[in-house]
Amino acid sequence: MSDFIARDLVKEFQTPTQPLRILDGVSVELKRGENLAVIGPSGSGKSTFLHIAGTLDTATSGSIELTGNDLGQLAEKDLASFRNENIGFVFQEHHLLPQLSALENVLIPIVAQGTTDKASVERARELLDQVGLADRMTHRPAALSGGERQRVAVARAMVREPILLLADEPTGSLDQTNAEKIGELLLNLQEQNNTILISVTHSAKLAGLFQNQVKLENGKFV
Ligand code: ADP
Ligand code: MG
Repeated sequence: MSDFIARDLVKEFQTPTQPLRILDGVSVELKRGENLAVIGPSGSGKSTFLHIAGTLDTATSGSIELTGNDLGQLAEKDLASFRNENIGFVFQEHHLLPQLSALENVLIPIVAQGTTDKASVERARELLDQVGLADRMTHRPAALSGGERQRVAVARAMVREPILLLADEPTGSLDQTNAEKIGELLLNLQEQNNTILISVTHSAKLAGLFQNQVKLENGKFV
């Protein structure tokens, strides 16, 4: 039994003329510890797929299951806490809060769920250490480089030890050296934590480091 199952996802957007079918029956199954790179031309629906996989958007039809839970069956409130606890996101832009330190930014998903305890602060510190920012914990985003900001975003995505880590062109706004570092970091953390990682990427080099690669074309995985 797979831990993550996307089953026959269809996504249509309504337009004044005819519905636009962006996903036309996308299915994939992954177990804990597995990773998948999604490539495909701009506009092919990669972000749409990722958002549906992470329950940030809903499919027109089809289902998403994580650890045996059909996420389409959860009530809004339960879904929000399930997502916060089990799914981590890294976007192309870091989306850090400018007024918070690196450490505080990493703790946001913990704060969102309640209060921070010693163990979670310790976990956040460890993660920042793992991503090479041990001496930048009190820096605000403005005092960090682009690559460093994205490393904070990666640490934030991992702080609740998600089962599923989703990344949408995580290296898209970085130079090549930093892009490679972030790619390796994502894969290392994924492996260490036995997480499922799905990453959209434009980089053939990054995609080549993943166990599985699919291309989104005409609404289908090929
Ligand atoms: P990718 O990430 O592969 O570049 P996206 O998933 O962002 O592609 O978008 C796929 C297609 O769906 C695009 O043609 C886009 O214009 C369309 N699309 C995305 N969101 C919406 C929306 N909310 N309403 C209508 N069309 C949308
Ligand atoms: Mg996109």
